[in-house]
Amino acid sequence: MRRKMVAGNWKMNGNLSENKQLLNSVVASLDGLQGVEFLVCVPYLYLPSVQDVLQNTNIAWGAQNVSQYEKGPYTGEISASMLNDFECRYVIVGHSERRALFGEDSHTVAEKYQAAQRAGITPILCVGESLEQREAGTTEQVIEDQLAAVIKLAGIESLVNAIIAYEPVWAIGTGRSASPEQAQDIHSFIREGIEKRNVNIANDLTILYGGSVKASNASELFDMPDIDGGLIGGASLVAIDFVGICRALHQ
Ligand code: PEP
Repeated sequence: MRRKMVAGNWKMNGNLSENKQLLNSVVASLDGLQGVEFLVCVPYLYLPSVQDVLQNTNIAWGAQNVSQYEKGPYTGEISASMLNDFECRYVIVGHSERRALFGEDSHTVAEKYQAAQRAGITPILCVGESLEQREAGTTEQVIEDQLAAVIKLAGIESLVNAIIAYEPVWAIGTGRSASPEQAQDIHSFIREGIEKRNVNIANDLTILYGGSVKASNASELFDMPDIDGGLIGGASLVAIDFVGICRALHQ
C-alpha cells in the first residue's frame, strides 16, 4: 500500500537521556496525528529503551542496518530475527554511508533487504547517486543498477513489502537539498522503472526523499506527486525540526 511516511535516521547519535527527552517531546507533539506513519531508526543499543517509550504511541521504531546472515560466526553483526525481538517493523538498508564507508555493494544490500523481509521486517532501500555521477549524467543508470540488484535477487514482488528512499549522496548532511523538481524527476523515474515490470506494484510503492530535508523545505518536496514522504537525518535529532517535517507531510 502506498503510504505517507516520515522516517528519522538518527545515525550514530544520541545517548539514553537525550533520546528520552527527544522522544518524549516528539510523542507529545505528534499525538493523535493520523494518516501518516512516523518512524525513528535508532542505534541498535537503544532499541529496548526506544521501544519502551514508543510502545502504544503512533511512532514506530526500526534499525539502520541488518546483517545479511541469519546467525553464526559473524562477530559484531545483528540479525533480522534479533531486530524482531525488539518489534522493529522497519530497517534501513543500503544507506549511502554504508555503501561508501563500509564497502556494501549492491549485491550485499540486496541480501540484507532479503534477510529483513524473511524476518517479516520492511526494508527501506536507499538508492542515490554521488555528485560525480550526477555531473557525469549517469544518475538514472546508477539508480537503475541499484534497484536491479534487489529485483534480481528478491524479485519484483518483493517490492510489495518494501519502501524505497531516493537519497542523492550530494544532498545528505550537506544542507543542500535536491530541488523539488530534481527529486520528483528521479522519483518518477523510479516509479516508471517499476511500472514497466509491474503496474500495480509501482502504483502502490512508497518512495521517500532524503537529503537535507528541513521543516522549511519539507512542504514543497512533499507536494510533488511521486514523493510520499521523507527520510530525515540531521533534522530528526531536534524535536521541533522533526515535528515540523512530520506536520508538513500531515497537512
Ligand atoms: C540521511 O542520512 O539519510 C539523511 C537524509 O541525512 P540528512 O537529512 O542529514 O541530509
